[in-house]
Amino acid sequence: NSYLNPIYTFENFIPCENTNFAYNAAKAIAMNPGINYNPCLIYGGVGLGKTHLLQSVGNYIEKENPKKKVIYVTAETFTNDFINSLQQKNASSFRIKYRKADVLLIDDIHFLQEKISTQEELFHTFNDLYEANKQIIFTCDRPISELKGFTDRLKSRFTRGLNLNLTAPDYETRVAILKKKCEAQNVRIFDSVISYMAENIKTNVRDLEGSLTTLIAYSKLIKTNITLEIAQEQLKNLISAPMASEQDISISTIVKEVASYYNVEISEIKGKKRTAIIKDARNLAIYLTRKITQYSTTEIGNYFDRDHSTITHSIDKVDQERKQNSDIAAALDSLENTIKSKSK
Ligand code: ADP
Ligand code: MG
Repeated sequence: NSYLNPIYTFENFIPCENTNFAYNAAKAIAMNPGINYNPCLIYGGVGLGKTHLLQSVGNYIEKENPKKKVIYVTAETFTNDFINSLQQKNASSFRIKYRKADVLLIDDIHFLQEKISTQEELFHTFNDLYEANKQIIFTCDRPISELKGFTDRLKSRFTRGLNLNLTAPDYETRVAILKKKCEAQNVRIFDSVISYMAENIKTNVRDLEGSLTTLIAYSKLIKTNITLEIAQEQLKNLISAPMASEQDISISTIVKEVASYYNVEISEIKGKKRTAIIKDARNLAIYLTRKITQYSTTEIGNYFDRDHSTITHSIDKVDQERKQNSDIAAALDSLENTIKSKSK
């Protein structure tokens, strides 16, 4: 028994542009475990699909390669197993269990914080499996560099191989995920409701799923289709408060103005290009969004498809420039006024 949940498969994981690499790498591992990307670390915030992707690897191997022994555990189970084995003076059975794995999948290793003897044990398990070319994959809710209460030598094992980052899905992917979940449950939901949900629930896939579950349950209860009004009413507590009412300025208005000011395309600001002018325009759009809307840096990051630290960095950079250069300060003020007047 590998403790895998068969619902987690590659087929029903929908990658977006940002997570495509992680998705394809996980698939490559599943096809050739222990060969190329060993060990592998999948990290990212809560509800972004770490467990789903990890178990997809396990389920794929169990199906295509049933001779391989797959073990999936959470770090919590690993810890409890280890403690039990000590209490029952049966450390060898613990070792045998984990070291006979061809593929060891350990979920949520941040749980091992400050658990130094379990970390020791994992360190030895890791070394044995690694030497024998057995595949090891970990997940963690943050980059390893941000883990506290871990031995350095274990941290260095976690990051030795391939590191994959999962980030929040973009709008189109949120729509695709919602549609796929509706299809899987054989329910139909109006496109207007799907768009409303995808526009407003940007945090993670778990929240997206939770909202859908709420609506489907409600729809069954009242035996009617979900209209946009019903969705708005039912989800109002789940959807984070919109921006302050008097300044209802959308990010797209800001991006549009900044793009025309710099004479670049809107798509370039949200895109990946790193030429000086586009980078300047992007930083400015991020800075102005933070200054004149109520969006959090995380929400801004979701919009611009960048992580939280990149957003903070852009804001700090423009802030610095503004202080050092009065021309820039004047240009920023004028842009801000334009945006505000166009939003009235
Ligand atoms: P994590 O382990 O990162 O907290 P999970 O893997 O438990 O997140 O994902 C939360 C829920 O969202 C699960 O039901 C999972 O199937 C679903 N999910 C996450 N990412 C995706 C995705 N890209 N496509 C489809 N479903 C997803
Ligand atoms: Mg998880």
